[in-house]
Amino acid sequence: MVELYEGVRLFFYRELASTGRLPSVADAADTLGIPEEWVWDGLDALAADRYVVLDSNGGILLASPFATRSFGFAVMGERTLWWGSCALDSFSIPHVLDKEPSVVVATTCPACGAAHSWLVDRTGPPEGTQVVRFPVPMGHVWDDVVYAAENQRIYCTDACLDDWVERSGQDRGYTVDIEMLWRIAQDWYDGRLDTPYQRREPKEAREYFRSKGLSGEFWGLPEPQSSGVSDQE
Ligand SMILES: [Zn+2]
Repeated sequence: MVELYEGVRLFFYRELASTGRLPSVADAADTLGIPEEWVWDGLDALAADRYVVLDSNGGILLASPFATRSFGFAVMGERTLWWGSCALDSFSIPHVLDKEPSVVVATTCPACGAAHSWLVDRTGPPEGTQVVRFPVPMGHVWDDVVYAAENQRIYCTDACLDDWVERSGQDRGYTVDIEMLWRIAQDWYDGRLDTPYQRREPKEAREYFRSKGLSGEFWGLPEPQSSGVSDQE
């Protein structure tokens, strides 16, 4: 049974990766040679294990780094256009797709509506002075993963973020710069389009964040020794 669900996972992930579009459950059943019911069961099992997030109709909303509707980010490759699930996921797409090593990531500032775009590839972080907001401490992302994804956005400046925090009443969260966003995105989804694939357990995720130079409670790590990039409030 577990093998069957992995087949369902791989089918949807690879279709989203190569086309940017969500295939139907009927397509999945056809390709995998199984009844549609099994595909629905597979999606439920994958959601329970946090490999996908489903919408109210039971279809895929998030198969990170890919989304099936706008979460504020468009990611354009040479052949394909994707919805990125959030800032981190959008920046991770060129790292997980062998055939699309360079993409344009486009978004708007939630505070003022200004448009921003970056050419993101594997060679190094793009230029950018914008402010990347992580809204929810890593240990709480799955309390409401859609909220966490929708609100992980990029602002023009700290002033734009402050303005938006004041208007929305949300926590400020934690901010990093574009360079750190690229570094966190670099290997985050390694192996996601291969099989078998195992999600990072919280302990492994913490180690990954530590390896990128992050620290502090927000990331489930000890507080920094000296002043770091934290803007947590
Ligand atoms: Zn702005």
